[in-house]
Amino acid sequence: MIESAKRLFVSNPGAVGVAPAPQSSAARTGGKVDYAKNPMLVYWEMTQACALACRHCRAEAMATAHPNEMTHEESRSLLRQILAFGRPLPHLILTGGDPMMRPDVFALIDEARALGLSVSITPSATPNLTRTAIQRLQQHGIESLGLSLDGSNAARHELVRGVAGCYDTTLRALRDAGELGLPVQVNTLVSAETVQDLPAIYALLQTMPVMRWSLFFLIAVGRGRTLNPILPESGEQWMNTIYDWTRTAPFAIKTTEAPSYRRVALNRMRAEGMSAESIERTSMYRGFGIRDGHGILFVSNQGEVYPAGFLPLKAGDVRSGHLVDIYRNSPVFRALHAPEKFQGKCGRCEYRALCGGSRARAYAHTGDALASDPFCPYQPRTAAAVSA
Ligand code: SF4
Repeated sequence: MIESAKRLFVSNPGAVGVAPAPQSSAARTGGKVDYAKNPMLVYWEMTQACALACRHCRAEAMATAHPNEMTHEESRSLLRQILAFGRPLPHLILTGGDPMMRPDVFALIDEARALGLSVSITPSATPNLTRTAIQRLQQHGIESLGLSLDGSNAARHELVRGVAGCYDTTLRALRDAGELGLPVQVNTLVSAETVQDLPAIYALLQTMPVMRWSLFFLIAVGRGRTLNPILPESGEQWMNTIYDWTRTAPFAIKTTEAPSYRRVALNRMRAEGMSAESIERTSMYRGFGIRDGHGILFVSNQGEVYPAGFLPLKAGDVRSGHLVDIYRNSPVFRALHAPEKFQGKCGRCEYRALCGGSRARAYAHTGDALASDPFCPYQPRTAAAVSA
């Protein structure tokens, strides 16, 4: 089981997660990518060490590093394994725990950048995340910062995270990054405890220097088991609201672990009369087809490889195997690359290639990563593939 790795944003696909780059490698190259061969996002949980102990931390972070954490040399080897995917190179997202707790974090950022990798980071909102620290990250070539904000005010945010004072720290870091010109992805948890606050969070973020807002739909793993997911019918309504926001928002908005949002957004764009060509030109469309284990992979602080931070299904280990081989050939990843073999309605759904459902949620609910995503209320009509 994964012991750490924070909800980043993403695509996460990842909230607890992750801050992807402003533009993916695929977008940079302008080419089509075979996600069965090349991931677009590699999440590396550098350490489980974190000074916070957030109530819903996927990583179940600890105050200190795990004794079996990858060494500096093993970490350098991991960076070279990522490079071996070839072009288009994936974007590397450093997460944790708190990646700033790794004493060699800046040396590893330098090495990744020297190899040609683009890098983002999701530091924890601790007093250590000073303006100087953010400036240093920027000077070392970090492309974007991921920060978690789960409430529109200190009481709401800290009720969810269970850490006093982290609201002010988060907003201060957000403003500092904005003033320094470092793009920020804000990651927000969507659960029964937070969902009614989303409009107020959206209003707050419109006053902030935000590059992207990632809405992470709760999967009950790690400490997240203490919170409650929203119901599928409510999720469908909120996805329509999120789509409405995207039409005028001053920043990009994405969902994490809610790929069925693509079905909602695609049908809304069609209803607005957008042509297939104009839909395919949207930044949103470029992420269609990416899901847990397909376009995304996750490496734990001990070198274990998983399809995603929320899918604790070990596929291999970079200490004894090679990342590229694990991603392309391990039984776990091969199964996740083939949506036509998914079980239940996701396997026969006409949106399966663009969506495919949250594999992490399917696993959390059934123990089978290939089962249907229980969060999606859609009933497929046909198995024919749908494109823009
Ligand atoms: S049924 Fe599965 S594949 Fe189809 S839209 Fe819903 S989650 Fe996506």
